[in-house]
Amino acid sequence: ELSQRLARVGSHVPQDARLADIGSDHAYLPVALMLKNKITFAVAGEVVKGPFQSAEKQVRKSGLTDQIVVRLADGLDAIEETDRINAITIAGMGGTLIRSILEAGKQHGRINGSERLILQPNVGEKTLREWLVENEYTIIEEEILAENKKIYEIIVAEKQEPVSYSDQELFFGPHLLKEKNDVFIQKWQREIAGKERVLAQLEKAEEKPLEKVAEIQTQLAWIKEVLA
Ligand code: SAM
Repeated sequence: ELSQRLARVGSHVPQDARLADIGSDHAYLPVALMLKNKITFAVAGEVVKGPFQSAEKQVRKSGLTDQIVVRLADGLDAIEETDRINAITIAGMGGTLIRSILEAGKQHGRINGSERLILQPNVGEKTLREWLVENEYTIIEEEILAENKKIYEIIVAEKQEPVSYSDQELFFGPHLLKEKNDVFIQKWQREIAGKERVLAQLEKAEEKPLEKVAEIQTQLAWIKEVLA
């Protein structure tokens, strides 16, 4: 049984997709999607030996070695052209790491812009959205959910007609900001407290990092406005 987080990530994978799950760990996501006949082929990529072996074991145990290939590789280097991948999931990592995986994948020619990206950053959503926008992706869907007291965001992107986003949309998520559901409100109420703490620390510093202080002050104003 998948966690709700991974189940929701999987729900954004198109029916009959050829999926690359990067940082697959136990390959739970591709295995569950294959058993539900949601996908027709998958690559489970892992850069660390231990999780790579867990993924291999899980795929073997599930009898899916013909449909799911497990590869020890850094990021999108796990993808080969003959895989004809059309959906990529990268979940459970920081947004900065996901961003650098996408950037390296682009540089190495592992993605061509036709793939649907389904991303679940644990933190650092803004920098990830910025990469997507800089690379002319459209954020087509977003989701926010709470599980075990943690709050997770899911960002789904595809290359479509270019859309422009405001700074606030990149910060909160364009769709999440429009919807403003209960989990969203909860997340940003928590973030206020955290940011005020950071701000108080910075204010005490010998040499105040003025730019950082201004950035956090701006964000706090946005958050308060959104919650008002
Ligand atoms: N995707 C699963 C999930 O969401 O439950 C596992 C998340 S786990 C916290 C992150 C995994 O990403 C780890 O197994 C780690 O080894 C892997 N990872 C980190 N950087 C990676 C990279 N550059 N390429 C492939 N895998 C990576």
